[in-house]
Amino acid sequence: MDRTIINFIYIYVKNVLKILNQVSRIGMVIVNHNKGEKMLFKDLNIIEPILKALKEEGYVKPTPIQEKAIPPILKGNDLEGFAQTGTGKTAAFAIPILQLLYCKQEAEKEPGSIKALVLAPTRELAIQIGESFTSYGKYTGLNNTVIFGGVSQKLQTDALKSGVDILIATPGRLLDLMQQKYINLQHIEFFALDEADRMLDMGLGQDVKRIIMKLPKKRQTMLFSATMPKEISKLIDSILLKPVKVEVTPVSSTIDTIQQAVYLVGKRNKKSLLIHLLKDNSIESVLVFSRTKHGANKITGDLIKEGITAQAIHGNKSQNARQLALNNFKEKKIRVLVATDIAARGIDVEELSHVINFDLPDEPETYVHRIGRTGRAGAQGIALSFCDEEEKETLRIIEKIISKSITVIEEHPYVMSNSIKSGGTSGVVKNNDVRKKTFAEKKRKNNNFRKNNFRN
Ligand code: AMP
Repeated sequence: MDRTIINFIYIYVKNVLKILNQVSRIGMVIVNHNKGEKMLFKDLNIIEPILKALKEEGYVKPTPIQEKAIPPILKGNDLEGFAQTGTGKTAAFAIPILQLLYCKQEAEKEPGSIKALVLAPTRELAIQIGESFTSYGKYTGLNNTVIFGGVSQKLQTDALKSGVDILIATPGRLLDLMQQKYINLQHIEFFALDEADRMLDMGLGQDVKRIIMKLPKKRQTMLFSATMPKEISKLIDSILLKPVKVEVTPVSSTIDTIQQAVYLVGKRNKKSLLIHLLKDNSIESVLVFSRTKHGANKITGDLIKEGITAQAIHGNKSQNARQLALNNFKEKKIRVLVATDIAARGIDVEELSHVINFDLPDEPETYVHRIGRTGRAGAQGIALSFCDEEEKETLRIIEKIISKSITVIEEHPYVMSNSIKSGGTSGVVKNNDVRKKTFAEKKRKNNNFRKNNFRN
């Protein structure tokens, strides 16, 4: 009798353990799935017409910001997204907006009015966003138009008159056309504010507020920003309702796939160093950053004199000239595009291998935006910076912000006589022994870096 009871208990415990084991395995599968290890676009409940377009674009897996942002937007939540450029943030809001509009459209068939508004700080970014909506939405029957200043408004107003579902705009031209009564924002259901921090940096805060005041209170809002200054948190509190917060790659950690290096070089020798580097034909396409418009023109002229194909892109150029330069660069008709910071926002060139900072930017965060032009969507990229005597302090602050010491390339023909970085997170060099050791270590690393990156 006792034995039977013991046997019964034994079998019972064994079965319970078996069940527990199975449950924990299922749990692990769910956890792994949630970690996104095998997450594909189709796992995000994306509708067939959009999946088809994404497939044609070659997108299979969502990027982390897409994986995190698409589900809550599809559920109807407001969203604050902290993601820098190059993370796939455009698709993170474009895909769910298209999907929600498509499903509504099927149910309501309400043509003509603008139902989604995307605000972007620059013309280039606005065009880029428009291209993304066109690609991802090509099987949805939804149309979009992009409006921005600096060009005649005729084509834009014609497009508006013929009926637009999704409007992508820079703030100035939008306000202008609203005043002229070409645009009515009464039917907006979705509002996305892209690169909100940049928008405020560029002094567009008031314009943005004026636009938001004209939007219907009942709407779904998405705000994307690379950084989180105080003004952005205020804006979030005032325009978003119980937003879901998603965050990827904080601005202080530059994208890991980008190799960064710095050349310490006298101001006067920067031009010669650039020409010297471009003798390396393995550098196929390079985006060069200049702090000023005048500087961008000068660098372009100097390169052309040396037989290197180059064009400049900055605020003094007409919109058409900027677009032409950008297209020439994308189509590899020119090797070098020289840009100022504002003009470069939104430039999205596939397979851009090199970014060169001819001047270091005044704001360290701009450095992160600049180098984010290369290494897009996980590709490899190289960011080289020229640093003269006056820029050493800026370099030190940049290193602090990105929590990384940028490798110094010491062997080049234009080394500054006193080419020691002042301070830096690599530490202040205190005595000769340490200095020798540090330099030997750096030299070894630099040689490897160059071996890997500048030779075929
Ligand atoms: P963005 O951060 O929106 O400017 O996107 C950066 C780049 O990543 C663009 O060239 C996109 O076309 C590309 N991209 C966005 N999402 C994906 C994805 N899921 N798979 C592959 N590439 C993507």
